Amino acid sequence: MSTSLICSTDEARLWKPLKDAKIQCRLCAHFCVIAENERGRCGVRVNRQGRLYTLVRDTVAALNLDPVEKKPLYHYFPGTKTLSLGTMGCNLSCSFCQNSSLSQPPRRGEAVRGERMQAEVVVDLALRSKAASISYTYSEPTVFFELVENVATRARERGLGNIIVSNGFQSRECLESWGPLIDAANIDLKAFTEGFYKDICGARLQPVLDNLKTIRGLGWWLEVTTLLIPGLNDEPGELRAMADFIYRELGPQTPWHLSRFHPDHTMLDRPPTPPQTLKKAWEVGKEAGLSHVYVGNITGVAGEATECSRCGTPLLLRQGFHVRNIGMDDGACRACGAPVEGQGMKTIPLEATT
Ligand code: SF4
Repeated sequence: MSTSLICSTDEARLWKPLKDAKIQCRLCAHFCVIAENERGRCGVRVNRQGRLYTLVRDTVAALNLDPVEKKPLYHYFPGTKTLSLGTMGCNLSCSFCQNSSLSQPPRRGEAVRGERMQAEVVVDLALRSKAASISYTYSEPTVFFELVENVATRARERGLGNIIVSNGFQSRECLESWGPLIDAANIDLKAFTEGFYKDICGARLQPVLDNLKTIRGLGWWLEVTTLLIPGLNDEPGELRAMADFIYRELGPQTPWHLSRFHPDHTMLDRPPTPPQTLKKAWEVGKEAGLSHVYVGNITGVAGEATECSRCGTPLLLRQGFHVRNIGMDDGACRACGAPVEGQGMKTIPLEATT
C-alpha cells in the first residue's frame, strides 16, 4: 500500500471558491467551508492554494469479488457477482461503524492508504472475474466521487452495471452528476430521528430523506437498509414511521433490509440485536404494506425469502448469500404471472423440479 501524493489531476469536482482562499465543498450535505491547507470533515478533500483536491481520486483501499446479495441487493441481477471497491474516508462518524479502519483514519488527519488503480484496470478486472457490476462501497462512495465517476463511465461503456452502497448524505448536485451512470443503490436509513443522526453519526436525517426521494426520481433501482441497534432505533413506533416513509415516498415495492447489529468500533456497550427484535421489525414492515422486507446478518429466522407481492408464492430462497430460484419464471411469478420488481430478475434460472 502506498500513500497518496497530490498532483494537478487530483483536483476535485463540485466545489466553489470563497473569499480569502477558502472554498466550499459541495459534494455532501455538510457543505464544508475549508480554509487553505485544511481538510473537509471526511478527511480526504483538501484545500491547496484556494483549490480543492481529492486524496482518493484513484486510491483503492479495499477490493473484493462479492455476491450482489452481500451489498445487500436482493432485486438486482440476483445470483451474480459484483466487484466491490472502496477507498478510505467517510463523511459520517457513526460510533457503530463496521468499517472504521477504512472510514475513520482520514478524519483524524491520518494518511490515506491504498493502491493507485486506473479505471480501465478496475473494469478489466471486473470483466475477467465475470462480475455483472461494480459496487462502490465499504467506506462512503460520496467522498470518492471522482473515482466512482471515472470507473462507472468506463464500466457503463463495457456493459457492466454500477451500484452505490451509501449513507445517503450527498448533496443533490452529487446525486444528479452520478444520475445516468448508476443503476442501483442500497441506501442506509439509520434511524428516524434527528437526534440519532446528530449524536451517533455526526449528520442529519432530513438530507437522507430528501436524497432517498431524489434517487427514486433518478430511476436507479433502490433498496433501503436499517441496522437495528438495541435501545437506539428499534422502538416499534420509530420502525413504523420508517416503514410508512418508505411506503409513501419510495413505493411499497422498495425492499427494506433489517440488519442485525454487532458491537463494533466505539459502540461496544450494547448487545447484538435479539432475533425477536428483528422478527418484530419485519412484522412492522409487512403491516405497513411493504412487499419485500428482509432480515440480514443472521440466519435461521424468517425474512430471507422473496415472495410474490401479489399471491405470496415463495420465489427466491436464500441461505447466507446463496440464492435459489424456486418459483420465478422469466422474471415473473410462476403461480400467478405477476412480474417481480427489480432489475435483471430474468437472469437467475429456475431450478429444475424433479
Ligand atoms: S465530501 Fe462532505 S465532508 Fe467531505 S469535504 Fe466535501 S462537504 Fe465536507
